[in-house]
Amino acid sequence: MPEGDTVWHTAATLRQHLLGRTLTRCDIRVPRFATVDLTGQVVDEVLSRGKHLFIRVGQASIHSHLKMDGSWRVGDRPARVDHRARIILEADTVRAVGVDLGVLEILERDHDRDAVAHLGPDLLGDDWNPQVAAANLTARPDRPIAEALLDQRVLAGIGNVYCNELCFISGHLPTAPVSAVADPHRLVSRAREMLWVNRFRWNRCTTGDTRAGRQLWVYGRAGQNCRRCSTRVNYDDSGERVTYWCPSCQR
Ligand SMILES: [Zn+2]
Repeated sequence: MPEGDTVWHTAATLRQHLLGRTLTRCDIRVPRFATVDLTGQVVDEVLSRGKHLFIRVGQASIHSHLKMDGSWRVGDRPARVDHRARIILEADTVRAVGVDLGVLEILERDHDRDAVAHLGPDLLGDDWNPQVAAANLTARPDRPIAEALLDQRVLAGIGNVYCNELCFISGHLPTAPVSAVADPHRLVSRAREMLWVNRFRWNRCTTGDTRAGRQLWVYGRAGQNCRRCSTRVNYDDSGERVTYWCPSCQR
């Protein structure tokens, strides 16, 4: 599932392959933007903001959001193109294909930041601000921790995996109110650390043990033993998102 680290890594990969190059093909398969042709223009900036991605080309900005299943495939060996492709960009031998993108729109470059103006501090941004993020997190004291962590207006970049893992390491149930968090600044700082160490990885790791099957504390581990106390990890899939927790370690 794409979270802020995945989007950051995707932006870095696109930058590596496309930056400074002139587009030789631009095929947009979204009806509203199908006539936009950026061929002949230079890709001069690629950046991420939370889970949003911008590829700036001349006066245009290609804004995408991966949502649940989206991805960008890019490489010198042409990435496969099938019916799920929403956009195909080529620069000579390099091809970048945006697949199953939850959002794809072409914006005016000068105003592309409007699309992310609602976001809280970006966990992987140069302007990351833990004070603002901590204040946002606790602004509504009764709110469940998981709900607040997932709200991109509070802080930007956390998806369901990090949300569950952060609840575990903070010792709180996902349903506990944010008022239960003794040190909100520490929690948002740990969120930043988690995403930061994973920004170059496709297989995220929160435990510090990168061996297969050991990377996560609770996410996806329903029925298995807690790595700290051996209690069975519990889960709830009745809501919009699955939650996992250790009934002993988390209160
Ligand atoms: Zn435990």
